[in-house]
Amino acid sequence: MMKKNFDYIVIGAGSGGVRFARLMAKTGKKVCLIEKSKVGGTCVIRGCVPKKLYVYASAFEDQIQDAKTFGWNINLLPKHNWKNLVNKKNNEIDRLNKIYINNLTKAGVVLFQDEATLLTKNSVLLKKKKTKITGKNIIIATGSSPNIPNINGANLGITSDQFFELKKLPKNISIVGSGYIAIEFAFLLKNLGYDVNLIIRKKTILNEFDEDIGSRILEAAKAKKIKLFDESYLLSLTKNKNFIYVKTNKGTIKTNLVIYAIGRSPNLSSLQLEKIGVKTNSHKAIKVNSKSQTTISNIYALGDVTNRKNLTPVAIREAVYLYDYFTTKKVKTLNYKNVASAIFTQPEVGVIGYSEKDLIQLNKKYKILKTEFTPMKYAFYKKKKNKVFIKVIYEPKSEKVLGAIYIGEGAAEIIQTLAIAITKKLTLKDLKLTVPVHPTSSEELVTLV
Ligand code: FAD
Repeated sequence: MMKKNFDYIVIGAGSGGVRFARLMAKTGKKVCLIEKSKVGGTCVIRGCVPKKLYVYASAFEDQIQDAKTFGWNINLLPKHNWKNLVNKKNNEIDRLNKIYINNLTKAGVVLFQDEATLLTKNSVLLKKKKTKITGKNIIIATGSSPNIPNINGANLGITSDQFFELKKLPKNISIVGSGYIAIEFAFLLKNLGYDVNLIIRKKTILNEFDEDIGSRILEAAKAKKIKLFDESYLLSLTKNKNFIYVKTNKGTIKTNLVIYAIGRSPNLSSLQLEKIGVKTNSHKAIKVNSKSQTTISNIYALGDVTNRKNLTPVAIREAVYLYDYFTTKKVKTLNYKNVASAIFTQPEVGVIGYSEKDLIQLNKKYKILKTEFTPMKYAFYKKKKNKVFIKVIYEPKSEKVLGAIYIGEGAAEIIQTLAIAITKKLTLKDLKLTVPVHPTSSEELVTLV
């Protein structure tokens, strides 16, 4: 007989939902997890993991050029086999998906492969099974989905979800958007040998970050010959046998594939939140308090569906803090500003804390230290190569570090380590005290003070 009453009903088996369900089931509580697609969610199935595998594959283009400057004689014309990469990626994701299911089952979570709709504040309908289940608490962790433009012919373009499934790629690819997903896709596809058009609304990219990031990555994109169509917005898409025609305010772009990366929206459509009084905010995300509690007291929400900081480790941490709250009754609040993140372009970007823009808006005083230099690795290049850029933003009186940016090889790994120091309230004095590792690029982090 199918179990129908639970202590916790978790909706969405992505980064946040899986972690909460697994932790809570281990305490002996009755927990179920409902997933309408594949267990693992966006990050594992169609986000961070496949993207990073593709980024690894694409980085060899630069490495081959670097090797040549150090005397390697590489005569062959390197050509990438996309189908081979996609098959390997799919096998890896199947492996991870099985591990997730296995761990959930071992923890005692009841898994429903179904779509959930809320019926009341204590009951949920499993749409396919046409069965009602009940729970004392409901956790909504349904994530977000890519936006599609509202234009004629929009269905001729695809989103990141479909991109990860493509077994064949045409020569000319147009990416629409200027956020980190659009820019990472543009770099990785260009590095793999495709012609890439980048269509952006403004003149700048990565506008959610400090300006020093966007300006440098835009230069790097141009140097890689990513074709930029700036101050352009889509009017319509049409198609003939061989081409898609992207009509913009500035003219028509002839291409073979259009990928939209124009932002994401919380997955709410099938939940019927209005019916039971769960309120959303102006971003159409579920409104929660510092406990991740919604406007209905036994219903909680976490991860992308709350649009606080849309990253996997954030969804996981929100899940852990909610679990802690249920088990200890202590509320832990997450400092969203101390969450480091990365942009996997070449050069790579690592960033944490406040940007100058943030501080100006908050009317907070700050000072900056910055440096930009050619790393030793590029000493033998005749033509200018990407420089390393480091910026530290600090509070003038206490000299406490408020934000940092690292652009260059290994930036994601470097910012991770720096995040530990910033979490422990790093000051300029601490940086000065640190004896650097030499010769490295990141040694400038401590010598620039
Ligand atoms: P999700 O992981 O999206 O999981 C939600 C799940 O709920 C999904 O499986 C969905 O099918 C299911 N669901 C939705 N509605 C229902 C319903 N009604 N019934 C049942 N199930 C439902 N983050 C990083 O930290 N680093 C990165 O490098 C990174 N790269 C990314 C690259 C791309 C291309 C994308 C798209 C995202 C990337 N992210 C990255 C963001 C990251 O994937 C998300 O922040 C994270 O997955 C959010 O986790 P979540 O638990 O909130 O939701």
